[in-house]
Amino acid sequence: MHAEIISIGSELTTGAKLDTNSQWLSLELAALGIPVWYHTTVADEQEANVRVLRAAVDRADLVLVTGGLGPTLDDLTREVLARLAGVELVLHEPSLEIIRGMFSRRGRPMPERNVVQAMFPAGATPLANPRGTAPGIFLEIARVGRTACRVFAMPGVPSEMKVMFHGEVAPRIALDQPCAPVIRHARINCFGLGESAFEELLGDVTARGRDPEVGITVHEATITLRIVAVAATAAECEQKIAATARVIHDRLGDYVFGVEDEQLQDVVVRRLAALGRSVSAAEDASSGLLSQSLAVAAGPGGGFRGGFVGPVAMLAQELTAGDAAAGGGEVAPALAAGCRNRLNADFGLAVSACLPAAPGDPAAEFPRVTIALACKDRVEMRELNLAGDPAILRSRVVKSALNLLRLELLRSSSGCDLPPDVPGLGDQEHEA
Ligand code: AMP
Ligand code: MG
Repeated sequence: MHAEIISIGSELTTGAKLDTNSQWLSLELAALGIPVWYHTTVADEQEANVRVLRAAVDRADLVLVTGGLGPTLDDLTREVLARLAGVELVLHEPSLEIIRGMFSRRGRPMPERNVVQAMFPAGATPLANPRGTAPGIFLEIARVGRTACRVFAMPGVPSEMKVMFHGEVAPRIALDQPCAPVIRHARINCFGLGESAFEELLGDVTARGRDPEVGITVHEATITLRIVAVAATAAECEQKIAATARVIHDRLGDYVFGVEDEQLQDVVVRRLAALGRSVSAAEDASSGLLSQSLAVAAGPGGGFRGGFVGPVAMLAQELTAGDAAAGGGEVAPALAAGCRNRLNADFGLAVSACLPAAPGDPAAEFPRVTIALACKDRVEMRELNLAGDPAILRSRVVKSALNLLRLELLRSSSGCDLPPDVPGLGDQEHEA
């Protein structure tokens, strides 16, 4: 059995709004063990709706529709479903009473147009909508020589759709699938190499058909490994995920930094907190992104002491009394040490685009950025090679700086009792 999700609305096909319902519903169906083979998005056009729904009923056993249940003339889902099932629309009095009640509780008379929201294809089951006026529709559409296709139509408004899915749709789907396999997802996040280099290190882990399957995606230089496990029980899925996470960690080592939504700054502030340490920042090349990332992740009172953002001359004046800029050498190490001292932090992290350009150096065409980490007794520095997509340069630079600190914290915390960064490597629970 597999499903199709149909999102209805001209605001979606024109690009004015992003269809987030399909993504959410796919994840929910996966958790119920139902694979989704098609996402279809269609405008508020009756003929197009009929064609799309007819195709869906033919090629999927379960069809989830969102949108088109409002009271206005462009809301066509009710009529389209009735046409497809070859039945009339009939008034469902109890639904009309509920809609009237909603209006009267808001102290307004119900506009005549809303009566249409209590009309259902004959034989359909209304689905309660505790958040809005549009009830959903459950309809079985007969197919020659096959079991009927089950169609659930829900409102487009995401908050209404989600409540209806959990309250009315998921229980009906689960009833019909007592032996469905369980699907669980997990993500492992890595940083420090390109996608192909990671793939090479991982070897057969990303081979198609492996159980569980592992896919690679990249977002602004962060590599995410997505593990998808299918098994009879959730516990079996978790076991498979843990075993694969272990293999990944063995092969990638410290390139792995976190799981699920965790970002580099989250891991950095968690480790800082565990060690009782703090960091401050200075940046002339990243527009405050480094300070912002650390400030948001650490929260008030966390391990981020503060940051300096601005042109290099100002930073040099403020943090090194002008020495760094006057020296004509690398500025980042002096800024890192300066912000560390100035804010009395354990670490100082700096990002600077101010470098002495070597005459005739072809690399000078590219933005040249240096990152530096000042610790108690030394300053580490890296010059970054920034050939590549300019749209993500800032994010890459900041992640590289955070990663420098993360690796330093890993070294200084070996032997400390810190939670593992990867599921399956300790007794830390994690959400699939
Ligand atoms: P409707 O049920 O078609 O009247 O949709 C009501 C509102 O819900 C639309 O104006 C959108 O703002 C929102 N909406 C509809 N479909 C989607 C979707 N697939 N993803 C996200 N938002 C949606
Ligand atoms: Mg609509």
